Amino acid sequence: MSELLARHRAVMPSWLSLYYDAPIEITGGKGVRVTDADGNTYLDFFAGIVTNMLGYDVAEVREAVERQIATGVVHTSTLYLLRGQVELAEKIARLSGIPDAKVFFTNSGTEANETALLLATQARGTDQVLAMRNSYHGRSYGTIAVTGNRGWKNSALSPLNVHYLHGTDRDTPAFRGMGDAEYIEACVADLRDVLATATAPDVACLIAEPVQGVGGFAMAPDGLYAAYKEVLDEQGILFISDEVQTGWGRTGSSFWGIGNHGVVPDAITFAKGLGNGFAVGGVVARGDLMDGLTANGVSTFGGNPVSMAAANATLDYVLDHDLQASAARLGPVVLDGLRPLADLASVGAVRGKGLMFAVEMADPATGAPSPALAGAVLEATRSRGLLIGKGGLRGNVLRMAPPLTITEADAREARDILVDAITEVDTAAA
Ligand code: PLP
Repeated sequence: MSELLARHRAVMPSWLSLYYDAPIEITGGKGVRVTDADGNTYLDFFAGIVTNMLGYDVAEVREAVERQIATGVVHTSTLYLLRGQVELAEKIARLSGIPDAKVFFTNSGTEANETALLLATQARGTDQVLAMRNSYHGRSYGTIAVTGNRGWKNSALSPLNVHYLHGTDRDTPAFRGMGDAEYIEACVADLRDVLATATAPDVACLIAEPVQGVGGFAMAPDGLYAAYKEVLDEQGILFISDEVQTGWGRTGSSFWGIGNHGVVPDAITFAKGLGNGFAVGGVVARGDLMDGLTANGVSTFGGNPVSMAAANATLDYVLDHDLQASAARLGPVVLDGLRPLADLASVGAVRGKGLMFAVEMADPATGAPSPALAGAVLEATRSRGLLIGKGGLRGNVLRMAPPLTITEADAREARDILVDAITEVDTAAA
């Protein structure tokens, strides 16, 4: 065990998960590559944890942050006017497509979702909410309540009255093997049933990730949420799209993940990639919902000048370089190479949308989800200089979400390493 790992284990919680048998200490980064304490370089195909949307040491972001720090003002509280906040809010309100939108900044995705749930439950005067099975929305009391994934659900106690819907984890016995249209129909029937039988008449909102991140990049068929929205609208139930992993063009075909479903939600929550490593999150919502909170509200560090400088520069970069188009163009370069892996005995499924890719590992003898083989692939990609993620309800899903700034050469390199590593693990497991 390395000296740093021993110290980590001694003073940090046992439930903080680390990747790899010998966890890596990242000590530097440039472009889409990072280096570790032993001098190894890796192509980072998970962008930190989907945080470094532009990669590392990006001049535009670094210089914007340095300019802000040079003013001497790194925090002056939200009691004063902060130009960076207003500028960023204007951009996000416009991009959201939400009418009369207003923005509140936080430091994380968890706080963003807490805020959105607060807006919805206050507006509707009820603590009943709908959430998706297999979801992950954060690690506070309220966001754990709407998290439908056993691996991340530490508390059964809940400040909210939550009902879970089918929809994104298609590997549920009653829903297995259905085509998209039949599946959407079954999910809508499930929603109607939940509303008719399991809830009191007043439900505040549905919160959902368009592509479930921690849940293993589980993807609802396009159109599912539009079908849900029709039902929700009948009862005035609000829709919150958690875009912490799916926003800013990552899915290629839409700027927001929920756009793939043709839905404009009542609120969008965001975090992770927006600050390109600096802590920033927030919620953009209909103005009447946002202004509906009548008590004072403040987030001491939410929207601080340094995070705003980083986020403004990051978002400008995404828009100026049309990284959504790049995600749409480069996604198939990787995905088309990965698809044939589905024929291997130890691969259960391969899917992707823009620059989000998932490969499910399965026991070749039984077809059961195999977290052990997913772990083996991570070790095999690491030894070939590629960092990826893993996750999913059953711990067997390889997750890839590179910086949106990857080139075609990076996409090909990662694809080839993945094919090589997964094939090697498959052969060894046979
Ligand atoms: N929502 C989604 C979809 C996430 O993936 C995450 C984090 O992984 C969160 C919310 C929580 O964000 P944070 O860790 O910044 O609190």
